[in-house]
Amino acid sequence: MTANLTIWHATVLTLFPDMFPGPLGMSLAGRALASGLWTLEARDIRASATDRHRSVDDTPAGGGPGMVLRADVLAGAIDAAEIEAGRPRLLMSPRGRPLTQARILELADGPGPLIVCGRFEGVDQRVIDARALEEVSIGDYVLSGGEIAAMALIDACVRLLPGVMGKQESGSDESFSDGLLEYPQYTRPQLFEGRAIPDVLISGDHARVAAWRRAEAEALTKARRPDLWQNRQKPPKNTTDP
Ligand code: SAH
Repeated sequence: MTANLTIWHATVLTLFPDMFPGPLGMSLAGRALASGLWTLEARDIRASATDRHRSVDDTPAGGGPGMVLRADVLAGAIDAAEIEAGRPRLLMSPRGRPLTQARILELADGPGPLIVCGRFEGVDQRVIDARALEEVSIGDYVLSGGEIAAMALIDACVRLLPGVMGKQESGSDESFSDGLLEYPQYTRPQLFEGRAIPDVLISGDHARVAAWRRAEAEALTKARRPDLWQNRQKPPKNTTDP
């Protein structure tokens, strides 16, 4: 891991800058933002509109429903943001590579990304090509805009930044950290509607607890996510495991 001399910074290009920080201003991410552990800049794409109507979109070439974000306006907004070389330039997009915890770890370890939020039917292909935007998806479903997707990505990164989570809440144990889903969690009361906490968890035997959690995590992963389970058996080449 390289030492981060600068504070992790997210630059978001959006038609709705007022949506930010939104949920990122609360709880874990919000406290970290307030205490300067990371910074956020939401920039209005419309500020880069050039015509007197300040239009940012137009009808799709070739016809069809909806509107498309103009390449010239979006390129102007990207250029105006003056993103330092080396910062990832992402476009939230259902056509993108599905986001994984491994990619989140990489993004959290870097200087922080530029994130372009699409709207309407999406953005003109030429700006994706001309500004080498990396398309990133948060799942196989379609949102009405990239803002909520960008917030999901930023939130997942911010909780991993040094000093954001306490040791207690450390991310080393949770879902995906070792290619497994997390084991079931319990807390007081000991009896809830006739359901007891599994005995092993109140046994005080740390080795037995660890073995039980491991077995539960493996069983859950096998049953719910055979794709993850198989990847674990045959680790992919780009694995981050040592
Ligand atoms: N017509 C496009 C969808 C546009 S949705 C298509 O079929 O691919 C409008 C915007 O919402 C997109 O430009 C993107 O920025 C965002 N968006 C929608 N679904 C998303 C997803 N699953 N992941 C990331 N961004 C998404």
